[in-house]
Amino acid sequence: MNANEMIDEIEKIFPDAECELVHGNTFQLLCAVILSAQTTDASVNRVTGPLFEAYPDARQMAKASVEEIEPYIQSLGLYHNKAKSLSAMSRDLLERFDGVVPSSYEDLQSLAGVGRKTANVVRSVAFHIPSLAVDTHVERVSKRLGLSKVNATVAQVEKDLMAQIDQERWNQAHHDLIFFGRYLCTAKKPQCSRCPFQGICHDNEYEDYKRLEKEKSNGRKKQKRSAA
Ligand code: SF4
Repeated sequence: MNANEMIDEIEKIFPDAECELVHGNTFQLLCAVILSAQTTDASVNRVTGPLFEAYPDARQMAKASVEEIEPYIQSLGLYHNKAKSLSAMSRDLLERFDGVVPSSYEDLQSLAGVGRKTANVVRSVAFHIPSLAVDTHVERVSKRLGLSKVNATVAQVEKDLMAQIDQERWNQAHHDLIFFGRYLCTAKKPQCSRCPFQGICHDNEYEDYKRLEKEKSNGRKKQKRSAA
């Protein structure tokens, strides 16, 4: 089964996969993606209603201090750093782009707090430019399905997916892979009994690799502690 056929199968299970971050404009989408680092979209959606009511666009958000933004997002992990990113990004956007979110990859990545994944999601969801953002779900699923090697970096996974999935499908495939990873092929308890990819799954190899990496990382921490 090739990558496009896998996406076909996933679309049979999740025919309505889409961006689940609630937003009313491109600026709000950008903020929501920044806030989604290491947390769930549902947690982000719980805080963005009041946040966007207070600061609906870059002009308003740029006027807010980090301390003023923090109370809106303090239920999220890393909220202090995320408040700093929202504040710096909004000021940057206002000063350099007159408050309008740019669509070019370079311009997006030049904004404070905006990395590769965030830039790709904004280009894909807001501007419909073919992009394949790799988040934790996309990375895990790609490795379990054998679309990428288990030791591939996020950038390599992105390249592998772009090479194997038809370009006109990239934007939808991103949502499909996220839904598959979020609701079926979950990190801790994948529902393998209802998965169409049981015969080709590389999960054992993936889990072995993750276990080895964890052991290596624990070993390095131990060495550091005994050297201190
Ligand atoms: S068989 Fe299980 S681990 Fe493998 S891709 Fe399917 S749900 Fe994920």
